[in-house]
Amino acid sequence: MTTTAAPQRHPDPERLAAAQAVLDDLPSAWARSTFTVHDPATEEMIAAVPDASVEQALDAVAQADEAGRQWAGSPLRARADVLRSWYERLLESGEELALLITHEMGKPLAEARAEVAYGADFVRWYSEEAVRPHGDSRDLPAGGAQLLTRRSPVGLSVLITPWNFPLAMATRKIAPALAAGCPVIIKPAALTPLTTILAVELARQAGVPEGLVKVVTTSSASAFSEAVLRDPRVRKVSFTGSTSVGSALMRLAADNVLRSSMELGGNAPLLVFDDADLDRAVNGAFAAKMRNGGQSCIAANRMFVQDGIADAFLEGLTEKMSALVVGNGLNDGIGMGPLIDDRAVATMSRLVADATARGAIVETGGVEFDGAGHFFAPTVLSNVPNDAEVAQTEIFGPIAAVQRFRDEDEALALANATELGLAGYVFTESLDRALNVADRLETGIVGINQGVPSNAAAPFGGIKQSGLGREGSAEGLEEYQNIRFYNIARRATR
Ligand code: NAD
Repeated sequence: MTTTAAPQRHPDPERLAAAQAVLDDLPSAWARSTFTVHDPATEEMIAAVPDASVEQALDAVAQADEAGRQWAGSPLRARADVLRSWYERLLESGEELALLITHEMGKPLAEARAEVAYGADFVRWYSEEAVRPHGDSRDLPAGGAQLLTRRSPVGLSVLITPWNFPLAMATRKIAPALAAGCPVIIKPAALTPLTTILAVELARQAGVPEGLVKVVTTSSASAFSEAVLRDPRVRKVSFTGSTSVGSALMRLAADNVLRSSMELGGNAPLLVFDDADLDRAVNGAFAAKMRNGGQSCIAANRMFVQDGIADAFLEGLTEKMSALVVGNGLNDGIGMGPLIDDRAVATMSRLVADATARGAIVETGGVEFDGAGHFFAPTVLSNVPNDAEVAQTEIFGPIAAVQRFRDEDEALALANATELGLAGYVFTESLDRALNVADRLETGIVGINQGVPSNAAAPFGGIKQSGLGREGSAEGLEEYQNIRFYNIARRATR
């Protein structure tokens, strides 16, 4: 077994000062009470943000509803221009955003910068999509009338986002909502509200009208959703987070028959066939597993490797995982930051203990690091039995759990034996096999010979219990549009 060096906890002093300067410049909102935000690498408090009451949340609904009336009737080009300007500001303030992401969420600065590029890209995409045709004309087969289809904004949209991609999960929802003509209330995760506050401030500076995008920070998520989703002015809820919270929100949304988009949990299978290119498979699996320290909904959760390539794959993956430098993401050269909280670290330890008790072998890692910060070593488990908890639940952390398979049918049966269906990965040099396996994988997203499939141009989303609806691409805009038709009687002219 190889071991990982102890984490570098202490941040680079210059970077820390820069991150604190960004915080000092955030718009300070008056608040009767506040809750605190902590750096997961040091556990030190970094900010106190307003803890909105239900009354304040409903006041935000009123303001957004008011601002939304004008926006719904605004020219498409005006919406596009504001979004473009917001995109440019996100890039101009890219370093500040990246510092905040790392400071409140923990991912290494290089990954935070990549999130800024990815998150801003949704704003650029929807600035371009906003002016695309919003309707069409169709002929009735029997004649005598013509159909005109129109798209109207769905209305006031409540957006609820998780902590793992605090910028991208927000822009992926706000940008299409604004392009479609909707006002929004956004509630970021209480663990990571600061990036959203800064991103929305940049939207305001870019010309988004006052009140149109309201950030509500609160430590009482359920009181917020109970009140806001029952408000008759609200027409839509878009949620990214766990399947259990998503299904509870769908029950709540049912009362007012709210349009609902749900981006929920994943349990991604990653299949490596004997005919895969070994380097591609190792690098792809590493990327699919370790983006954000494994705290990604499309993270490779279960790795199934064919017998003939399994030893070489394990060796390559173990080498890469054990070489990762763990530490405070504000420092240079860090490959993996802390996990989000203590609970996540305890979950990793429990999963490793359960798997090893059932016969799994720790190839590297498997240990927590004592002291401040929520650090867990990058871990590879081999010989994982399929009934181990790590092979059944969403890990959401830096454990690669590797199982072996004999043939395609066995691999697919294992891969599809889950109620979740967000992403899957296939590594093979055979085009036929890649496409056949992708077709049989029960997931909304398939990475073929690569580990990072997301893109603003792609219709991101899951099937089965991984969710409803799509984000990104043209389909992402439809989530915020009502499709209507006018049936226009036509007199025959000839
Ligand atoms: P979570 O479900 O605990 O929280 C997500 C958000 O919901 C947070 O803002 C939280 O405050 C809020 N929330 C919690 N209970 C609520 C309630 N009763 N009413 C209203 N809001 C409530 O998830 P998390 O731990 O922040 O994120 C991890 C989960 O998110 C994982 O399961 C992951 O797979 C999933 N995820 C999915 C996607 C996707 O696109 N499918 C993307 C990122 C994360």
